[in-house]
Amino acid sequence: MGNGHRRWLFADQLGDHFLDDDDQPVLLVEARSVLERRRFHRQKAHLVLSALRHRAAELGDRVIFARTRTYGEALDAAGEPLTVCHPTSHAAAAFVSGRARVTVLPARGFTTSREDFAAWAEGRGDRRLLMEDFYRDARRRLGVLMDGAEPAGGRWNFDADNREPPPRGGLGVPGPWRPVEDEIDEEVRRDLDRWERDGVVSFVGRDGPRAFPATRAEAAEALARFVADRLPCFGPYQDAMSSGDPVMAHSLLSPALNLGLLDPMDCVREAETAYQEGHVPLRSAEGYIRQLIGWRDYVWHLYWHLGPGYRRENRLSAHTALPAWFAELDADAVEARCLSWALRQVRDHGFAHHIVRLMVLGNYALQRAFEPERLTDWFHRCFVDGYDWVMTPNVVGMSQHADGGLLATKPYASAGAYINRMSDFCHDCRYRPDRRTGADACPFTTGYWSFVARNEELLAANPRTSRSVHGMRRLADLDEVRAIEADRGDAPP
Ligand SMILES: Cc1cc2nc3c(=O)[nH]c(=O)nc-3n(C[C@H](O)[C@H](O)[C@H](O)COP(=O)(O)OP(=O)(O)OC[C@H]3O[C@@H](n4cnc5c(N)ncnc54)[C@H](O)[C@@H]3O)c2cc1C
Ligand code: SF4
Repeated sequence: MGNGHRRWLFADQLGDHFLDDDDQPVLLVEARSVLERRRFHRQKAHLVLSALRHRAAELGDRVIFARTRTYGEALDAAGEPLTVCHPTSHAAAAFVSGRARVTVLPARGFTTSREDFAAWAEGRGDRRLLMEDFYRDARRRLGVLMDGAEPAGGRWNFDADNREPPPRGGLGVPGPWRPVEDEIDEEVRRDLDRWERDGVVSFVGRDGPRAFPATRAEAAEALARFVADRLPCFGPYQDAMSSGDPVMAHSLLSPALNLGLLDPMDCVREAETAYQEGHVPLRSAEGYIRQLIGWRDYVWHLYWHLGPGYRRENRLSAHTALPAWFAELDADAVEARCLSWALRQVRDHGFAHHIVRLMVLGNYALQRAFEPERLTDWFHRCFVDGYDWVMTPNVVGMSQHADGGLLATKPYASAGAYINRMSDFCHDCRYRPDRRTGADACPFTTGYWSFVARNEELLAANPRTSRSVHGMRRLADLDEVRAIEADRGDAPP
């Protein structure tokens, strides 16, 4: 399959499952132009370089580790036929397909193959490509959490049982796994400091101790700790947000998965085994496994299925530029407690969990019509797990509804009441979640009604959102609400 050729590994293909055997020669490229082109989060740049350099050290004599400005220079220097697993972005796919002496192999690191996805999508005819249907197909095909032909426990999905707010007093589980930095991290930090001083690169966010795995061994340790400590609570608290616990029951494994350090089936099988051995309830194992063989693969395949033009979709005509305080992660400029906290997570760690991304950051942007393509770029640069294939559908489709509802059946816009229910932010915020007028009107509540008013026609035509439009039409103070929004403009709330 690999014809014995040297395998070129991109920086997000670092696990053993991207190689054919233990002796295969490897090319790794650290191309500084990638960091020069965009302002990434400092901790993202650190994590990627650290993982790449750790992999080069592990591979020893088998690897040509090219530290060049561009990929082209590295390939010219390698000067021999190469194989590469299908890369993860449209731009990289176009780059490799145009190179003589580079053979492109099928993608690895996902649970459904391109052929299986195509067969599934074709079989749908004119019906929507729904995640839930894709997920059930994957469960059957991969034989995960199945009792013969039936789903384990008689149900495919336990989401309806899984919407608990954060428990008072916290989850009561040990802190998440964190790495200990080594001399490779020290070298990376020195290089990034120097390049920044020399004006070659510039970053957003703050530096801090590396918080995510940079090697396969670290990733395996983090996975084991997650399964033992947090997975049992994953189901009930998936949607909860807590100011005292930014991690909640989440795995924090997306950076390791997206660097290719872990294969998603490793995570799936560990979670399934923990359920079968009675350590983890079904609703948690199922909830977690659905994120992996469902959402993660669904988003991956839609990225290719929808093509490079998808990133420019803007069906809600959202043209607001990102305000500087948002773009620059200026959490201290913001008084709205939930939003300030969320921006602080991104500024200090390059990370926030799913509901913070969707229902705080994404929700705020959707309400104010931030331009989806620029917002995608912001998420991509600022999050340590952000890559083109995963950010584009999640931001354009799921979070901003810019595809008109291809990916999500309704926009994820909500008022302060949702954040109040699912978090502990509101009680000491200067705003009140239930107020839509006056000086303490919650910006998420005023923003929500303004969003509904702005998109009245579209939301009225969707059975899942038409009730919001009826609610909005009954508001006697809608003009006042919209005036507050207009007055606040793009100032930090
Ligand atoms: C606006 C927005 C932007 C996002 N950007 C990214 C991104 O750049 N990279 C990224 O990996 N995920 C992204 N997600 C999806 C999701 O928020 C993260 O995968 C998750 O928060 C990662 O944390 P975790 O590993 O603790 O996840 P867990 O809650 O432990 O979930 C388990 C795993 O499921 C996968 N997963 C869950 N949901 C999704 C999803 N919607 N898309 C893809 N994979 C999913 C991840 O690999 C994750 O590790 C985004 C979601 C939103 C709403
Ligand atoms: S009152 Fe509004 S702005 Fe304040 S924390 Fe609650 S939802 Fe956020």
